[in-house]
Amino acid sequence: MATTNEVIRPLFIVGLRDVHAVEHQALALIDRQLDRLKNYPEVEARLRSHRTETEQQISRVEQILADLGESHSSIKDLGLTISGNLAALSHTIAGDEIIKNSFANFAFENFEIASYTGLITLAQDGGFGNVTSLLEQSLAEEQAMADFVIGGIPKIMRTFVDLKVAGEDGSR
Ligand code: MG
Ligand code: FE
Repeated sequence: MATTNEVIRPLFIVGLRDVHAVEHQALALIDRQLDRLKNYPEVEARLRSHRTETEQQISRVEQILADLGESHSSIKDLGLTISGNLAALSHTIAGDEIIKNSFANFAFENFEIASYTGLITLAQDGGFGNVTSLLEQSLAEEQAMADFVIGGIPKIMRTFVDLKVAGEDGSR
């Protein structure tokens, strides 16, 4: 028999390493979209600000791992299947990359929301309550980004259609 804390601590540390890898995937996902969005300036601006947030989220995870005595050099970004799959999606030749990228972005943000929700639960139940506020900050940023992405779908669809009707390329 193990104590609850003996079970939670390694689960928490693995979860932190996983989310660290997910955030690096997030940077890659964002970077593939920046500078390819001339018809969608609000999306581009929001992706840029979320990129800055993502860098801060990475710093928070590293700070938490350091506080737990896990050295930064031991962080290995294994990559998760879902993020790898999302990263492998290529929307650039489909002629509607803004649309497919928006769907992928929504999926990705929700994966992050689920990850931070799980970590917050472990932090609360495992006696790491002092780091909860850092994780909650990141969770709030992911929720705001998910709301932006889903809220923007109708306008993206209509802009895409309008440009096509006008004989222009609205794919990006
Ligand atoms: Mg993130
Ligand atoms: Fe995010």
